Amino acid sequence: MIDLRTGLVGSAGKSGGVRDLVIAGGGPAALSAALYAARYGIGHVVVESWQPGGQMALTAHIENYPGIESAAGGDLAAAMRKHAGKWGAEFDSSSVVSATRSGKMIEVTTDSSVYTARTLIIATGAAPAKLGVPGEDEFYGRGVSYCATCDAPFFKGRSVMVVGGGDSAVKEALHLAGFADGLVLVHRRDRLRAEPFLVDKLLSCGKCEVHWNSTVKEILGTDGVEAVTLNTPEGEIRVDVDGVFMYVGRRPATEPFRQLVELNENGTVKTSDIVRTSDASVFAAGDVTDNEFRQVITAAADGARAAAAVFDLLQSEQVKEG
Ligand code: NAP
Repeated sequence: MIDLRTGLVGSAGKSGGVRDLVIAGGGPAALSAALYAARYGIGHVVVESWQPGGQMALTAHIENYPGIESAAGGDLAAAMRKHAGKWGAEFDSSSVVSATRSGKMIEVTTDSSVYTARTLIIATGAAPAKLGVPGEDEFYGRGVSYCATCDAPFFKGRSVMVVGGGDSAVKEALHLAGFADGLVLVHRRDRLRAEPFLVDKLLSCGKCEVHWNSTVKEILGTDGVEAVTLNTPEGEIRVDVDGVFMYVGRRPATEPFRQLVELNENGTVKTSDIVRTSDASVFAAGDVTDNEFRQVITAAADGARAAAAVFDLLQSEQVKEG
């Protein structure tokens, strides 16, 4: 039971209080929503999780955000957070566990408290997808990684494999090329889907061997990764590497919102008009949606749109009530 005056929530958990808006997430969509919400004067909190900056913070270099020629993802994330904070954004470094409707309000439960919100922006992004091969879980943290930005320095002078053919795989392979001595890219098709500029840069760096039309069969090792077996057009081969970096897509972080909004088959939040969900008081922004183009700039734009939609909704409700 929620007391809307005090925001106290029975025995369910410590109350975070009542807000006009809760923003779930800590990446560019959430931070941009926070900046706009703060400037609109909407009372809000950003539940940004333990890893502020989202996927952006795990990206080595961002070179396609207008006005920023090149920045480490973590630096751009910190700058966005600082900018939103300057306008009064409030941050909570816990993670959303569930969000459910409670009459006119939404109850957003985090791992440390419960917020009662009039509106919600879901901007929880996506986590790296797993490949699902033997050895992947066993050697996670012992050679298997999903974050070159975090782990590349451990592979200085050693050999690594990157799996995938999208922007993430190619960008992070380029980052790894600056550390590793040997670099092997494995892609299941004969063409990379990444930006042509990045593809040219990687294929001409003189350090990257590519196995086309190939898939990972198994990751082998004892204490850490020692080799990977591949299914290639020439048959099964063994490639000796010290590390394997997986970039085979992303899993949307929508589990906490299952009961609240409709999801697409692939687990993303179903949206219309870019940011509207099946619940009129809930909006979604960035990689958590199925919106096709997934860039820092599109996530930030979604966040701004979502905050503007919240502002319009709260204004119209105020007019009705007044
Ligand atoms: P992505 O574009 O979905 O690429 C995933 C890659 O993994 C694809 O090449 C795919 O192969 C491969 N793959 C998927 N499942 C696989 C499996 N089971 N076994 C082997 N390979 C598999 O994912 P992403 O690279 O993480 O990018 C996600 C979004 O973020 C994209 O929209 C991307 O443009 C954007 N992004 C942009 C930048 C930038 O700087 N512009 C940087 C990072 C990400 P297929 O090609 O055969 O499907």
